[in-house]
Amino acid sequence: MRPVTYLLADDVEGAVRTVTADPDTHFLAGGTTEVDLLRQNVLTPHRLVDINRLPLTGIEALPDGGVRIGALARMSEVAEDRGVRERFPMISRALELGASAQLRHMASMGGNMMQKVRCGYYRDGESPCNKRLPGSGCAALTGVSRTHAVLGTSEHCIATHPSDVAVPLVALDARIHTRIHTRTGDGERDHAIGDFFLEPGDTPDREHPLAHGELITAIEVPGLPIARRSLYLKVRDRESYEFALVSVAAAVDMVDGVIGDVRLALGGVGTRPWRAIRAEEFLIGAPAIPENFEQAARIELSDARTTAMNAFKPELARRTLVRALETLTRDGSQR
Ligand code: SF4
Repeated sequence: MRPVTYLLADDVEGAVRTVTADPDTHFLAGGTTEVDLLRQNVLTPHRLVDINRLPLTGIEALPDGGVRIGALARMSEVAEDRGVRERFPMISRALELGASAQLRHMASMGGNMMQKVRCGYYRDGESPCNKRLPGSGCAALTGVSRTHAVLGTSEHCIATHPSDVAVPLVALDARIHTRIHTRTGDGERDHAIGDFFLEPGDTPDREHPLAHGELITAIEVPGLPIARRSLYLKVRDRESYEFALVSVAAAVDMVDGVIGDVRLALGGVGTRPWRAIRAEEFLIGAPAIPENFEQAARIELSDARTTAMNAFKPELARRTLVRALETLTRDGSQR
């Protein structure tokens, strides 16, 4: 048995300083990832700083129509928040579909951004895995890879990013606010979510641009009218408590049958929550017809790299993206 020291933090600055000072000290929020991986000896901190008492739980409407979500707000609280449901249905739905009810009550929003991949080789603590042990290899490349990524992969890692709610947050250009302690003092940082999730490249062990000890304090979603008519569509092997094979976060603004603006992101297929920029660029200004939806999906997925086991994913992603766009642009659903 490995002893772990437990500290209960009373203030944000103190928590950040304590973790920053020691590479073997981790934050503990809902614990729905950290405790699993502790038990499996995948993460081996010698000290945990419990941050659950910190005042980071608020869900606050912003003057521009956006929302600021405290890092310790629970997934279930955000999913049920009336403002989030009305103004950002894609966020609310992604949270509802994101985990079991028990997990949604425990898991924090900040923790969701930091959750680890679900690749079985990472989690077994023994197989070659460049993410867990850099330079050891990637067992998934020749092993079981049905749920693995087809976009943003590298020869060193093909693990899929597991978050549901990160997918609409990426589509809506959310920002991640953090608190950091450096040699020059305490400060705050602000990360565009598009830069927050790193592709594996040559360094799959590096998943975020955060320094050790840098703490997520809030997630801010800008007020975007387009988000009021949005959806999150998730395709998975079973109807509950399962990760996405493919998911789509979509919002469309259409006038007289022509797409004026569109936001699209994919989950379950990328090594990061995948903003479908190329599909968006193709669709803006185009008639909202199935042929254009098909073409947009094909363009976005043209760089997909598959294994023998996940070769079905690009086609499934294409169909899911088209279905999301058809649903949002059906007669009467747009101005
Ligand atoms: Fe590890 Fe990534 Fe390979 Fe999975 S896909 S075994 S997480 S390197």
